[in-house]
Amino acid sequence: MIKANDPNLESWVNVPVNSDFPIQNLPLGIFKTDHLEARVGVRIGDDILDLKTLHVLGYLDNLPFSIEAFDTKTLNVLMKKGKRASRRLRDRISDLLNKDNTELQNNAHHVEQVLSSASAAQVLMPIEIGDYTDFYSSKEHATNVGTMFRDPNNALLPNWLHIPVGYHGRSSSVIPSGQDIHRPKGQTKPSEDQGPVFGASKMIDFELEMAFVTFDGKPLGDSITTEEAEDYIFGMVLFNDWSARDIQKWEYVPLGPFLAKNFASSISSWIVSLDALQPFAVDTPNQNPEVLDYLKFEGKKSYDINLQVAITPSQSEETIVCNSNFKYMYWNMAQQLAHHTVNGCNVRGGDLLGSGTISGPTPDSYGSMLELAWKGTKPVPMADGSERKFIQDGDTVTMRGFCKNDKIRIGFGEVASKLLPSK
Ligand code: CA
Repeated sequence: MIKANDPNLESWVNVPVNSDFPIQNLPLGIFKTDHLEARVGVRIGDDILDLKTLHVLGYLDNLPFSIEAFDTKTLNVLMKKGKRASRRLRDRISDLLNKDNTELQNNAHHVEQVLSSASAAQVLMPIEIGDYTDFYSSKEHATNVGTMFRDPNNALLPNWLHIPVGYHGRSSSVIPSGQDIHRPKGQTKPSEDQGPVFGASKMIDFELEMAFVTFDGKPLGDSITTEEAEDYIFGMVLFNDWSARDIQKWEYVPLGPFLAKNFASSISSWIVSLDALQPFAVDTPNQNPEVLDYLKFEGKKSYDINLQVAITPSQSEETIVCNSNFKYMYWNMAQQLAHHTVNGCNVRGGDLLGSGTISGPTPDSYGSMLELAWKGTKPVPMADGSERKFIQDGDTVTMRGFCKNDKIRIGFGEVASKLLPSK
């Protein structure tokens, strides 16, 4: 077991019961406060540990990081050091925050300098994303969409069970939790017998996804195997891949989604390492037919992460519309990364790879409004008495994710974003 994952560890920093951020998590992010410039921090309970100041005070000596890794607006510099170095950093922070370690704990003057209340901090975009790739790896989601738009008897296209299907997205519009978005405009074709029209999309949807961030990969021309893949994964975030279904339907043939998908994608603030998720590793669903050799893998490469989506209408209470789980994904991250690089395509530190919409087996676990309201035929009731087929102006979409066993809870916090009217 990784030492920092020991469920018996406790921190001298207060961690509320049911916090997503116990000492066994220690996710990284970027934050600033009224008197601190943007810098790298680690979330612990309701506080943020300031790694820049910690480094200045000498607590991070003997680690392969210079001050530039922490005195920065993105995690990219730190990520350049790779998996082993970030593991050592997590171990060191685990030690420093351990209630049995007095090194930092007993220096009240230092504690005051390195801990900030999360509620008083502004959490920023954690990484500068180079390339963004989105997969389509939930069998339930692909089956639902195929059933709605093509043929219930042949819902999956012939390649789907053989290839982790994906496409290249756009990184410029990946935004942090808390940043609101405007309803996009574009071309749609509302009826079969009339031409296309231009205007605000009428079918804005969320896509419940998770995404992983990569370390620097191998040089162009080389491939990452499923066995090596997790060494190239820095961590995971919650991911709302906003979609405009009416624009999508008209534009997507023959080259796939374009303007329906690239107007906004929201990520959660704290990057949770695969190490912290290790106690929740589970088997990937059975894959049949057998996959090609380069997609074969050994061990538990999927993760049991509970996922939830809530819609909060303007001036109203939230309604939970979906409960799903990351473990339902047919293709795991190791297979996605192996597939992505099998042709020699290189990934770089800070690339973002989305899972694709995560739908579970039951109708309450579908990961998009398209499926939850089944193409508008089953409107979803809201707590305030209204109903939704898609997302309305003023609605906030909130996604949460956490792992839990009888000893610990490792969470991601949330990704929340409000849909504002079209500009
Ligand atoms: Ca997507």
